[in-house]
Amino acid sequence: MDTRSDDEILAHARTILRASRRAVALTGAGLSTESGIPDFRSPGGVWERFRPIEYGDFVCSSGARREHWRYKLATVPVMLEAQPNAGHRALARLEQAGRLQAIVTQNIDGLHQAAGSSTVYELHGTNRAAVCLQCDRREPIEPVLARVLAGDEEPRCDACGGMLKPATVSFGQSLPRDVLEESIRLAEACDCLLAIGSSLQVQPAASLVEIAKIAGASVLILTASATPYDALADAKLDGALGSTLPALVDGALILDG
Ligand code: NAD
Repeated sequence: MDTRSDDEILAHARTILRASRRAVALTGAGLSTESGIPDFRSPGGVWERFRPIEYGDFVCSSGARREHWRYKLATVPVMLEAQPNAGHRALARLEQAGRLQAIVTQNIDGLHQAAGSSTVYELHGTNRAAVCLQCDRREPIEPVLARVLAGDEEPRCDACGGMLKPATVSFGQSLPRDVLEESIRLAEACDCLLAIGSSLQVQPAASLVEIAKIAGASVLILTASATPYDALADAKLDGALGSTLPALVDGALILDG
C-alpha cells in the first residue's frame, strides 16, 4: 500500500516521465469514458447490457451474427459521435513533444487518431470499419450499419459475397499478428510504460506491462480501479483521467522545458 499523498505520487510520476525518452502508452476503455463511451467492466458498462460473441459462433451461427450486428448497431453510433477528451489530447501533446514513441491501444473507438496522435497500434481492431472474412476487403462501418438498420441482418461483402464482420477482434479471434509483435517490441524497448484506463485483465495486452518492467522500464499505472499489476508500478494514479493525465503530461513537459 502506497502511503504517499496523491500530490506526492503525482510529483513522483512526473519525475519519472520527465526522465523518460522512450515512453509508450498502453490505453484502455477507461480513457474514453469521459468522452461518453462506457467501458466494459465498470457499473453500467457494456457487459451489463450485452453478452460477448465468440468468433467461432459468429462464423458458424446466423443467430450469433445477427445478435452481434444488433449489438454494434446499439454501440457504434455513440463511438462515432464521441470526441476525444483532455486525456487523449494530453497523449497527443506528449507525442508531438517527441516524448511518446507510440500508443498501443485496446480501444476500438479511433479517438487517439481524432486527438492528433499519429503512431497508434490498435490491438483489438477498430469499430470504424467492417472487414470481409473471405477477401479481407475493408469498408467504412457506417454504410454497413445503415444496411443492418434497413433489415439486412447479416450483411455480405459487395465484392465477393463473403461474410462481413466489424473490424474488431472478438473473443476467440487472433489478434493482428504484426500489431501484437510491434507492441511487444515497443514494450521491450521502452523506458517508461504508461498503462492508462485499463483494468489490465485482458491478455495478451495486459502482459505488456510486465514485459516492459522485466526489460527495465518504469511503469506508471493511471486507472481508477485496482489492477493485477499495481504491485509492480512505480506510481499508481487513480484519479479521473481527464484531469490526472494532463496534470502528469503537462507537468512533465513544463519541468522539461
Ligand atoms: P475495462 O473496462 O476492463 O477497464 C477500464 C478501466 O478504466 C477500469 O479499471 C475503470 O476503473 C477505469 N476507468 C474508467 N473510467 C475512468 C476514468 N474516467 N478515469 C480513470 N479510470 C477510469 O477496459 P479495458 O481494460 O480496456 O479492457 C477491455 C476491452 O474493452 C478491450 O478489449 C477494449 O477493446 C474494449 N472496449 C473498448 C472501448 C473503447 O474503444 N472506448 C469501450 C468499451 C470496451
